[in-house]
Amino acid sequence: MYDFNYHRPSSLDEAVTLLGQGEDVKVLAGGHTLLPTMKQRLAAPSDVVDLSRIAALKGIEATEGAVRIGAATSHADVAASGEVRNRIPALAALAARIGDPHVRNRGTLGGSIANNDPNADYPAACLALGATIVTTKREIAADDFFVDMFETALDEDEIVTRVDFPVPRRAGYAKFPNPASRYALVGVFVAEGGDGIRAAVTGAGPCVFRVPEMEAALGHDFSPAALEGIKVDAGGLNADIHASADYRAHLVGVMARRAVEAALEGR
Ligand SMILES: Cc1cc2nc3c(=O)[nH]c(=O)nc-3n(C[C@H](O)[C@H](O)[C@H](O)COP(=O)(O)OP(=O)(O)OC[C@H]3O[C@@H](n4cnc5c(N)ncnc54)[C@H](O)[C@@H]3O)c2cc1C
Repeated sequence: MYDFNYHRPSSLDEAVTLLGQGEDVKVLAGGHTLLPTMKQRLAAPSDVVDLSRIAALKGIEATEGAVRIGAATSHADVAASGEVRNRIPALAALAARIGDPHVRNRGTLGGSIANNDPNADYPAACLALGATIVTTKREIAADDFFVDMFETALDEDEIVTRVDFPVPRRAGYAKFPNPASRYALVGVFVAEGGDGIRAAVTGAGPCVFRVPEMEAALGHDFSPAALEGIKVDAGGLNADIHASADYRAHLVGVMARRAVEAALEGR
């Protein structure tokens, strides 16, 4: 690890000011991705701004028709939240299956979506639920937020403050976890909300994406059977030591059907 300046502000304003100073300033949430990359010298920020003391970034609030989750809220807190479990059980179930207890207690919603790992779970929930990502500068629809592998619409000096998840009529998530890390080899989040059905896939491609053919079929008949025969093209999907592109394409269909089952069962 290279030398860096460490800052621990207690307000968002202070954090924003610090982000505007220094050569290459990075914010630190739970450190689950940032610290390993710094240790491996893949990242060498001049300054690190630790968000952990900023109370405004933590917590979960239910509003009319939505659940607002602070960016620095841990996965464990999302999984345990009564508001999330009652109003969007699929989101609580997703958080409960991220990594292991250590990861869930340190990892954060904001860190996960800002990092936009192609195998992360939350991007699928954000996209399928039509979430809004609120930052220190603006509000960004999930449709516009996830740009490419490890790339988002965030500016260098922009901090995610919270994510607003509209409460769906029903939703379900299913993932085929990597047995070592629990990241999604493929995960599918299906939601029926105000603007119809959305099916979002993580893990399979370079970035989370929707499957319009599945959404149309589920719009006619919200059942696993409606997805029979719908194939996702393996072209452009990820292939690595864990799974080929063809296998991932196959898993999208399997996970989508399981996600619909979960939605029908309200889990
Ligand atoms: C062993 C292991 C297993 C894991 N398994 C899973 C899994 O099954 N599913 C899954 O989805 N994820 C998994 N993760 C990822 C984990 O859940 C974290 O969410 C992820 O590593 C990001 O970590 P963090 O929240 O601590 O953010 P950090 O590591 O602190 O930050 C990550 C990046 O986001 C930026 N950032 C952080 N917060 C903000 C913010 N509020 N605004 C703007 N930028 C910000 C940082 O500058 C940095 O670039 C796993 C991680 C590990 C180490």
